Amino acid sequence: MDNCLFCKIIRGEIPSKKIYEDDLCYAFYDINPQSDTHFLVVPKEHISGADKITSENSALVAHIFEVISSLTKELGLSSYRIINNCGEGAGQTVMHLHFHVLSGKNLGERLV
Ligand code: 5GP
Ligand code: ZN
Repeated sequence: MDNCLFCKIIRGEIPSKKIYEDDLCYAFYDINPQSDTHFLVVPKEHISGADKITSENSALVAHIFEVISSLTKELGLSSYRIINNCGEGAGQTVMHLHFHVLSGKNLGERLV
C-alpha cells in the first residue's frame, strides 16, 4: 500500500531498527517503547487490522506467533505480553495489522 507507514518501513523507505524478517513478516523495535523491550511484528502483506483476518490469510498470523516464540527466546525474554489493538476505539493508530511484544519489569498485571 502506497501510503501506509508500516508498508513503507517494510520496503525500507522509512528507517527502522529491524530485528528479523522473512518472506512473510517483519519485526522491528517500536519508536516509542512502552516497556523495557517493545517491538512490533507485522505481516508483509498489507492487512488493515485484526478484523480483516480470514481463513485466506490466517496462516500469516500463525506464522507471526511462531516468529514471536522464537524471537523472544533469542532475545532472552521469558515473560512477555502480545497485544493487538483493533480499531481506533481500541487505540489502533497505524492501519496495518501489527502485534506489539512487550517485556520488562514495568509490565503490570492489568490489561486495561
Ligand atoms: P497502535 O497504536 O496502532 O497499536 O501501534 C502503533 C505503534 O507504532 C505505536 O506503538 C507507535 O509508537 C509505533 N510507531 C508509529 N510510528 C512509528 C515509526 O515510524 N517507527 C516505528 N518503529 N514505530 C512507529
Ligand atoms: Zn501497510
